[in-house]
Amino acid sequence: MSLGGHKVKVVCRVRPFLKTEKADNSVAVEANNVLRVNNPRDSTKDVKFNFDSCYGPDIDQATIYRNDVRPLVETMFSGMSATVFCYGVTGAGKTHTIQGTETEPGIIPRAVEHIFMHQERDPYDYDIRISYYEIYKEAVFDLLKPHDPTLAGLPIREDANRKIFVAGLSEKRVTSYEQFDSIYQKASGNRRTASTKLNNHSSRSHAILTVQVQWQDDISVGKTWCGRLHLIDLAGSEDNRRTENGKDRMAESSAINRSLFVLGQVVEALNTGSSRIPYRDSKMTRILQDSLGGESLGMMIVNVAPGEAFLQDTNNTLNFATKSR
Ligand code: ADP
Ligand code: MG
Repeated sequence: MSLGGHKVKVVCRVRPFLKTEKADNSVAVEANNVLRVNNPRDSTKDVKFNFDSCYGPDIDQATIYRNDVRPLVETMFSGMSATVFCYGVTGAGKTHTIQGTETEPGIIPRAVEHIFMHQERDPYDYDIRISYYEIYKEAVFDLLKPHDPTLAGLPIREDANRKIFVAGLSEKRVTSYEQFDSIYQKASGNRRTASTKLNNHSSRSHAILTVQVQWQDDISVGKTWCGRLHLIDLAGSEDNRRTENGKDRMAESSAINRSLFVLGQVVEALNTGSSRIPYRDSKMTRILQDSLGGESLGMMIVNVAPGEAFLQDTNNTLNFATKSR
């Protein structure tokens, strides 16, 4: 426990082999919370990594939502904040987990549906708003508007109550799941992607969807309750030195690697109860400061791609993730 607050849960998810991949047993889930990484040449060098939970390739979207995300979403209705990150290399399953597909919806559609269902059951009048933005090379861009990432991003400011906010970021009120979905689909098209040698649609930015619910009840007169949920598809964590990128890509990579490094340090500081939490060292952790640590609940889903081709990435990912625990 940190400063009387909650720990950030760290959960691992291994995706199935794709049809185009050759299956092997380089990673194996053991005992619901342990991932074993098998050394292909020397089994005495197999390594085990511990998590709060560990999910293998046959675990579906609904199970992950029900076990790990739903309880977090529920806390919004007591006026708390919660954050879910997906961390991993490009191709490991971050977008599948957080967004999913039409037939296998991920965390975002399930959480938003859950919020609207909750609203139907409750007597109070909920004001539900979303914002959606990306952080690309330490600059913030509004995904609810078409944007040019070569321009300067939106500034981060502090208000009179010392709350951090992104100045000029749009917020859209949504009154149904369908309305949310149409806004979200359009905004996702604005997300910055660029090609690298590793993957043609490698995600080079962090994408952050924030859902905010505000309401008043008839007990606490004059009080406005506010719950917040941040759902984050992080930029790929691959070691970009390997991709022989050009100068532009290298600048990109060092910004990405640095902000992921700071995120890891923040989570580690929260989970070890350190008194110095380096929120201010990156744009993302600074913006999320009020929703990470303290009373807020956080979870990092560590996405892993199976197979020997990913072993180096997998080891880097797991070392990062288990250090944060
Ligand atoms: P990332 O966003 O981390 O780059 P993606 O989410 O795009 O990775 O996943 C890479 C590929 O693996 C995609 O083709 C995706 O459909 C598939 N995939 C990822 N996770 C799963 C899963 N749990 N079940 C089935 N397919 C998956
Ligand atoms: Mg992705």
